[in-house]
Amino acid sequence: MTDLRERLGEVADLERTALLLAWDQETTMPPAGAAARAEQRASVERLAHERFTDGHVGELLEIAQPGDELEVDLLRVTRRDHDKAVRVPTELVGRLARAGAHGHTTWAAAREQSDFALFAPALQTNVALRREYAACFPDAARPYDALLDDFEPELTTDEARVVLDAMRDGLVELVQAAGETDDAIVHGGPFAREAQRGLVQTVLAQVGVDEQRWRLDVAEHPFQATIGLGDVRLTTRYDERDLDSLFSTLHEFGHGLYEAGIDPALARTPLAGGVSSAMHESQSRLWENMVGRGPGFWRWCFPHLKAAFPDRFAGAAWSDVQRAVNAVRPSLIRVSADEVTYGLHIALRFELELGLFEGDLVVADLPAAWNERMRAYLGLDVPDDAHGVLQDVHWAEGLFGYFPTYALGNVIAGQLWARITDELPELEESFASGDFAPLSAWLAQHVHRHGRRLGAQETIRRAAGAPMDPAPYLAYLAAKVSASASLMP
Ligand code: ZN
Repeated sequence: MTDLRERLGEVADLERTALLLAWDQETTMPPAGAAARAEQRASVERLAHERFTDGHVGELLEIAQPGDELEVDLLRVTRRDHDKAVRVPTELVGRLARAGAHGHTTWAAAREQSDFALFAPALQTNVALRREYAACFPDAARPYDALLDDFEPELTTDEARVVLDAMRDGLVELVQAAGETDDAIVHGGPFAREAQRGLVQTVLAQVGVDEQRWRLDVAEHPFQATIGLGDVRLTTRYDERDLDSLFSTLHEFGHGLYEAGIDPALARTPLAGGVSSAMHESQSRLWENMVGRGPGFWRWCFPHLKAAFPDRFAGAAWSDVQRAVNAVRPSLIRVSADEVTYGLHIALRFELELGLFEGDLVVADLPAAWNERMRAYLGLDVPDDAHGVLQDVHWAEGLFGYFPTYALGNVIAGQLWARITDELPELEESFASGDFAPLSAWLAQHVHRHGRRLGAQETIRRAAGAPMDPAPYLAYLAAKVSASASLMP
């Protein structure tokens, strides 16, 4: 066990080093360093992969004798990871990486010109390679199961489909029931960058970020990176036209708090991470939406908002802001979608992925299939591919099976929120007084500390009290929609 843990520690160090290189690239590296950085990242990632998949680890896993419960879990999870990693030939890993890089470049050019046909051949290659990848896992009952398992372990396509279909049908009804909300107060700017930065720092300090363990930097596409124990890095971006920096920072904070709350005894092992993409996303959505768009948060935050932008909010009340940040408005772009319409953007992508990998949908027909669903679910006409099928980078990089976890994260967040507010009925009051510790403590206890020890679906079952179920999330959104409808003049 000692030899195995030493090796796993080395692999973990290499992986976090690769992450640090990526973080640096996105936050501080001068642009001309990109080519050299690509080599550096590839080398470190290859070393990590080789040190994990070589035969020696297989032997160590065979003979290892666990000394305690933690090591029993460590062996189970590491064996699963190792089995998966060794099934994929190194040359296929290389072809996937190259096709992903080429796909990214081609996609960026195609999006620029809003011309799907330019991107179609590269996408076709990505789909073919991912089929090859899925075929490396003959135990998977169907190709999409293998793709989904990389992001949401142990969840089958059928299970995901039941949840996402019910979510989609519920959301379509909610969008139709939602009225118009005047949200001009939080849009259109100008919201000075420096004032936003100060506000974001005030909020982060209040929810539990301290400078001994956390950093906040600026990046074009905000993300979170945990480099090691006591080193959590958040990024955000400021746009003077709106207050999105506040919500995107709370989102990344939710991701960071998850990683920061993992039992330190799991450090430098494969157990030290979020248990699945959907669970990770549930943590970010919970802070961004359930907390950050809720009444308690705004009762506390409004004076700080007003101090940051005194002219703008002089005559307003906290409830004006809270109503505005909950406006429902069907729109074409996923990343700027509101809480109610967001899931429909995901349902659409999930259905198209299933069609591509298991149905009769061909790449050339994607734009039409996309536009048809935008009309059916959101009532919108897509004017061009840049505002439609070309808007996201995921497929360009060969990521299939990832999109559903965004919506499943919302679903889990809804389940957790129902349970938390049941167990902690004073929560909104404590938020209003600026105390967010009861929520952090609940999440640490029920979700964060376990890391990957329990497995994905078991962690969800224990924390939420049930397997994935969209009903609590839909009920939470329905309450919001009817509250704002009853405020209509
Ligand atoms: Zn996220």
